[in-house]
Amino acid sequence: MIETSSSAPLVRTTCPVCHDTDAAPFLTVPDRFKLQAGEPYHLVRCRKCSLIYLNPRPDESVSGRFYEHEAYTPFVSAAGEAGATARLYTHLRTLNNHWKRRLIEKYSGRKGRLLDIGCGTGEFLHEMQAAGWQVRGVERDARAAAYAVEALRLPVIRGDLDALPSPDESFDVITAWHVIEHLYEPHRAIVRMRDLLKKGGLLIIAVPNAASLDARVYGQNWIAYDTPRHVQHFTPRALRMMMEMHGFEKRSIRSLHLDALFNALMSAQLGAQRSGSSTAGKLLRLVQAGGVGLAALLAGVLSADMRNYVGSTLLTIWRK
Ligand SMILES: [Zn+2]
Repeated sequence: MIETSSSAPLVRTTCPVCHDTDAAPFLTVPDRFKLQAGEPYHLVRCRKCSLIYLNPRPDESVSGRFYEHEAYTPFVSAAGEAGATARLYTHLRTLNNHWKRRLIEKYSGRKGRLLDIGCGTGEFLHEMQAAGWQVRGVERDARAAAYAVEALRLPVIRGDLDALPSPDESFDVITAWHVIEHLYEPHRAIVRMRDLLKKGGLLIIAVPNAASLDARVYGQNWIAYDTPRHVQHFTPRALRMMMEMHGFEKRSIRSLHLDALFNALMSAQLGAQRSGSSTAGKLLRLVQAGGVGLAALLAGVLSADMRNYVGSTLLTIWRK
């Protein structure tokens, strides 16, 4: 273990996807919530599978502390936040959830049992349940899970995949929206999800695309690096390699349109914060971000399902 000035113990790892050790230095990225304090984290790129990963990374036993920040947006509902940004985020999330449901129903053909891993405050499950799906959720964050159970009356268990009952191949669809990039043992999670799925069931995985247009434009300010909460960043190739190792068959690669705009705006904001831009400078960055976001959105739509997919998010659909 290596001690750093930010006092989180760091541990070295092999590539979390292919377990190779041959990786090239890629970027150094600070924790966006602690720009002035602590050492930046190091990202490396695996020469074998193209995964970008944090190495060294905080010990898993202390990883929970990095989520304890009030501005951590996945949990704004539970925080009772009422600011304009929080409201906008909530509206956009609702739109996104409608779109996700329609996509799932298109590929599954019928309604059935659905499990959402890392369901947060549960708005996606709420959307699915209202449309006639039998839903379950699992969420590691105590406050978010409590909100899903108490405010939305959803069957959500607090914990990780191990908190679920024995893998009985009973789900028609399992979703993991922006979850796998946080997991220290992604293979273990994929095996567990496979065992929970019916034969022919769908696994839907969405992760930020490390090969995206916005990742290339914003470099170390790309919001989706989100170190050290995200411990790995998939390219289409790395994700496909991992899924095929577990016998999944690819159905589709899609973009999540709003993520392109969200990533560009948040990345521009982070860049302005780090460089201490003037008001005019901030405005210019914002205008540029609008352009980058639209370009990323369009690039995602045009390159969907291709080997060189450059959309902001890798929304992938796999069949067991
Ligand atoms: Zn690798």
